[in-house]
Amino acid sequence: MTAQIIDGKAIAQKIKEKIKAEVATLGKKPGLAAIIAGDNPASKIYVGMKRKTCKEAGIYSEEHKLPEQATEKELIELIRKLNNEDKIDAILVQLPLPPQISTEKALNEVAIEKDVDGFSPANVGKLMAGNENMVPCTPKGIIRLLEETGTKIDGKSAVIVGRSNIVGKPTALMLLNRNATVTICHSKTSNLAEHTRKADILIAAAGKPKLITADMIKKGAIVIDVGINKADGEISGDVDYKQAKEKAAAITPVPGGVGPMTIAMLLENTLKLHKERKQK
Ligand code: NAD
Repeated sequence: MTAQIIDGKAIAQKIKEKIKAEVATLGKKPGLAAIIAGDNPASKIYVGMKRKTCKEAGIYSEEHKLPEQATEKELIELIRKLNNEDKIDAILVQLPLPPQISTEKALNEVAIEKDVDGFSPANVGKLMAGNENMVPCTPKGIIRLLEETGTKIDGKSAVIVGRSNIVGKPTALMLLNRNATVTICHSKTSNLAEHTRKADILIAAAGKPKLITADMIKKGAIVIDVGINKADGEISGDVDYKQAKEKAAAITPVPGGVGPMTIAMLLENTLKLHKERKQK
């Protein structure tokens, strides 16, 4: 069996075009403010890509850079200022933050009506209770990829490898909300393969290249590779793609799978927040 390659880039492009067309009909542009604190090179690339895509879709964006030594107070003051700026509908705090800043405290400062990543405790609580009004972009992109490929989630066994607050846990909740039977694996899971082999839907989000080999995949599974690993100038996922695509029914490539969907969902969430604020 050779798997269907889930073309996240093409699916994301269609979503972006739809958003662009809708934005063009609006009197005022939706506005996104991205905050980067520190010198993380990956964060700079991600924010650069997000802003470029915003521009293509006609969404206003601005970037706020804070130095590596920035204090928690400085970041919180900036978030509060942006909370009160009318042209800003969406605030994105790029993670990770420098160690002297509490991520929890910072995310808690983002006004719920501007929380584009759904990371504020209020939105996390809502997701937990089954309310998906504003959910994080990567998990939302993963679910959309599954839906776009016609994957039935209800009643399926879904295994997520990774339990982070930004990918693993919210993805698990979204799958649970759709009636999957969900298993969350992590770095302390003993015998990972025993779990992954039972997955009808396997989500790899560990950040470990080739962690998931073909023998760990159930024949005919849907495999979503979230990992972005850089080595020797190459980008690869967490799944041994070449071998896995002979075993899975469908699989996402890296790059060109979940990555572009995350950005498309950011645009979608920004537009949603803009429309909701206009209605108030
Ligand atoms: P993280 O480091 O916060 O979490 C990694 C998780 O994987 C942890 O819960 C850890 O317990 C688990 N893990 C690590 N090693 C493991 C192992 N050997 N076996 C089982 N579990 C293991 O990372 P994150 O922020 O959740 O991101 C995960 C990956 O997804 C990274 O490669 C990241 O770059 C990528 N990512 C991609 C996108 C995208 O848009 N495509 C978005 C966010 C993150």
